[in-house]
Amino acid sequence: MGVIDEVKQRIDIIEVIGEHVPLTKAGRTFRALCPFHSEKTPSFFVYPERQSWHCFGACNTGGDAFSFIMKKQGIDFGEALRLLAERVGITIPSKFEPEAGKDEREKLYQVNAVATQYFHNLLLNSPDGEKARNYLLSRGFSSKSVTEFQLGFSLNSWEALKQYLVEKGYIENELVTAGLLIEGDTGRTYDRFRNKLMFPIFDIRGRVTGFGARVFDDSLPKYLNSPQTLVFDKSSTLYGINLATDVIRQQDQAVIVEGYMDVITAHQNGFSNMVASMGTSLTEKQVSALKKLTRNIVLALDADAAGEEATLRAVGYENTLNAEVRVVILPQGKDPDDVIRESAQSWNSLLEQAIPVIDFTFNMVASGLDLTTAKDKSFAADRLLPIIMEIKDIVRQAHYLQKLAHLVKVSERSLETALGRIRTGRVKGRTRESNQGAVTHRLQPLLSSPVEEECLAWLLQYPELKIHCQGLLPEYFDNSENREIFLTWQDVNDLASLKEKLDVAVHEHLDSFLNKSLPPTNQTKRGDVIADCILRLKEKFLRSLAAKGGEALALGAESGGTAAEQAKQVEISVQLGEIFIQKSRRR
Ligand SMILES: [Zn+2]
Repeated sequence: MGVIDEVKQRIDIIEVIGEHVPLTKAGRTFRALCPFHSEKTPSFFVYPERQSWHCFGACNTGGDAFSFIMKKQGIDFGEALRLLAERVGITIPSKFEPEAGKDEREKLYQVNAVATQYFHNLLLNSPDGEKARNYLLSRGFSSKSVTEFQLGFSLNSWEALKQYLVEKGYIENELVTAGLLIEGDTGRTYDRFRNKLMFPIFDIRGRVTGFGARVFDDSLPKYLNSPQTLVFDKSSTLYGINLATDVIRQQDQAVIVEGYMDVITAHQNGFSNMVASMGTSLTEKQVSALKKLTRNIVLALDADAAGEEATLRAVGYENTLNAEVRVVILPQGKDPDDVIRESAQSWNSLLEQAIPVIDFTFNMVASGLDLTTAKDKSFAADRLLPIIMEIKDIVRQAHYLQKLAHLVKVSERSLETALGRIRTGRVKGRTRESNQGAVTHRLQPLLSSPVEEECLAWLLQYPELKIHCQGLLPEYFDNSENREIFLTWQDVNDLASLKEKLDVAVHEHLDSFLNKSLPPTNQTKRGDVIADCILRLKEKFLRSLAAKGGEALALGAESGGTAAEQAKQVEISVQLGEIFIQKSRRR
């Protein structure tokens, strides 16, 4: 449970609002003269069961405890959240902390940029850099590539970089934080990178986040990276992404390899849609970074490294991506670097041989089995059925079920039965879990709204849907944090600025939308999906308004319900009727 939900669960809206407005109990609701506009008869209602409030008068607006405090005190969401959190003894990190963190990050980018320049200059101009220059020549790197990738050289010295940066006014501590210096046991600091070929690692915005370094001889380890820092996280880094972004978009395809050198050779030879995964197998974070650029990913795998685990994970990415991840296996003993150097033609034809990751897994499982024997047939089915079950797209799932049936020469029906058995096994497991969960999350329905969440997840994961949102109003979101995200999202053009603008306390909530798994769709269908979402949101909003208004009207009637209130109820019914018609047209 997120911190916002925790606050919500502990506060009582009657108490919060009651401190500002004298509330009178009326049936299941509380009412008062509206604190936001001047009036003679009370049209301000608070609903304890819904933990919400509404003014049916001139304001004609409402919300939860957060939005009340925001409006009443004229403060923003983050401030209201902190105020209410404090009441119930929950500490929320200061609003100013991300700013401070931002400064710190900026500092790291800056010192990394200075170090990049320093290493680059040593490579180009220093006498000691000659061996690095020769090495690059021997690998066939052009001077254009050296400049584009800002390659560099670090001197064979314990303190060369340290002295250079300290003279520039940097403090040793900062340099340790940046991962450029290492602090020894005695507290003495020294250069992390010595006598290496330096590869600055840029993020998608062209900022240097860290460094990769390579030895010139056969000593091990061959490669050395910056440690994890505030700005450098290996698992979310793709080497070369700063230079590949446009081409990946244009060609609607990204090729992922393992090595820095491969990327440089590829770019030099016109294959600029290539990035490297930093020597690890592809991670979820890397996939979601690429997802904004393309849905077509080709994994170029080493013949030896093409493990089952890597491909299994790729099936998961396919679901996240709603697309096909394809795999190409490099010729034994060769890097992409070698293949591209042979000829552009051989690289192209290799890429053409890329096969969908699931077909690849089929081949891998089947190889080495004797599929005429019962034992190996059942082995193959045991391995492949769970993978087939993970496929979300029903048509593709059916396709691979057929393929498996063909492979092991067993009827599709019996495989379907087996699949069903696996599925019920899992569902049972899940039900048990969720029953346990139910005890602790009993109040959840009050706090979360599935339609709001679904709608935001679509909008945030598919930025192109923004054009479909003219009819979507902030008040459709009952949850203040959802409304906050929606309002901020309306003003920005990309996720980075959305995150920057949003209070840090809302980030966790935002991430939950970005990570929410959505059913597979294609671009044309997505427009319909979001239109449907908006319609459901509007319906939810109107229904809740009608219910609240009904309660208010029932009370108002005793004290002579106003004509305006009744007219509003009629208006709501008319709008609900329109939604009903629109919905039936869609079906
Ligand atoms: Zn009002």
